[in-house]
Amino acid sequence: MASITLDGLVKRFGALTVVDRISLDIEDGEFFTLLGPSGCGKTTLLRMLAGFVAPDEGDIRFAGKSIVAVPPYRRETGMVFQNYALFPHMTVFENVAYGLKARKRPAPEIRAKVDEMLAGVRLDGFGERRPRQLSGGQQQRVALARALVVRPKVLLMDEPLSNLDARLRVDMREEIRSIQKEFGITTVYVTHDQEEAMAVSDRIAVLAEGRLRQAGSPRDVYMHPADAFTAEFMGDCVMLDVTAEPSGPAENSGGTYAPPAGLAGFIKDMPLVLDIGACPAPPFTLMLRPDWIETAGGRDCPNRFTGIVKESIFAGAHVLYRVQALGRTMRVKTPAPADGELRRPGESLEFCFAPDRPVLLG
Ligand code: ADP
Ligand code: MG
Repeated sequence: MASITLDGLVKRFGALTVVDRISLDIEDGEFFTLLGPSGCGKTTLLRMLAGFVAPDEGDIRFAGKSIVAVPPYRRETGMVFQNYALFPHMTVFENVAYGLKARKRPAPEIRAKVDEMLAGVRLDGFGERRPRQLSGGQQQRVALARALVVRPKVLLMDEPLSNLDARLRVDMREEIRSIQKEFGITTVYVTHDQEEAMAVSDRIAVLAEGRLRQAGSPRDVYMHPADAFTAEFMGDCVMLDVTAEPSGPAENSGGTYAPPAGLAGFIKDMPLVLDIGACPAPPFTLMLRPDWIETAGGRDCPNRFTGIVKESIFAGAHVLYRVQALGRTMRVKTPAPADGELRRPGESLEFCFAPDRPVLLG
């Protein structure tokens, strides 16, 4: 078990800087995910932790001790790959036993540890099968057992679920998280799937083009993204421009206009009311998630605007509307109406959002 420190890590391939001054502290026992689009350097970073790639600059420490000069087989890391990489001619038992045999452990100890590990990944009774006689999810659990049986200090997983179909991916990610928590092993997990990252991780590091954009809990990076890239990568959102003066005809002109308390600016001609602490002077950009926008009904709420429904989709517990409003198209996700009646395309509907909900981006 070990904490991990990445200290100013840099990796270049020719003229391309693939990992660009990344510093992170990963806690002992933490499930930590590197999340970012394809090509952003996730695998390269993971391979530096395993020792297969040497950094050009910076340091990696396990439990405070630098390991950059330590060869891969001495780093005590376990690795799980996207394609499982099981030995096809060996049984499940032999696959899991491999690392213990290589370490020349006595046969009774190997038997006991492999049986215990197969039970740990819920594969008791599968020891004599060959990998091809297992489902993809079972094969991935064998790969996990094989990595964990030697009690590594750090578990590294590179897109371990990408080869599974959608349903199994959801089951397996819950399973991987529960196994990780049972073993309490420090884990660095790589994925490009933000939903998967949120489901399994204690913390997530969002990467783009080799740089760290933000590190935080799933809730943090989703609710409080530090920049537009992270906001958009973490999920559906709408970005709205906030200006100091209303654009278009102001509804309340004529001398009687009293600005609402908390007026932060205007989105088109809608007075924007915010209650989010320090608020910059416009212009700035405001970000909303689809489920932060509500239908206003007859309520007297701030940040109220009219939208024309372009499309409505019934999705069980909620309704998804595509709406033309505030000079653009946006998605709105609201609880399904009690009467079950969806608004049809062309109908107009009143929306609003709470003053403490939006995220402000530079
Ligand atoms: P990710 O896992 O996030 O998809 P990678 O770490 O695999 O990203 O790759 C990051 C970038 O580094 C990509 O542009 C890739 O083409 C490049 N790259 C990776 N490995 C090598 C290598 N051995 N030689 C040259 N370029 C590489
Ligand atoms: Mg990769």
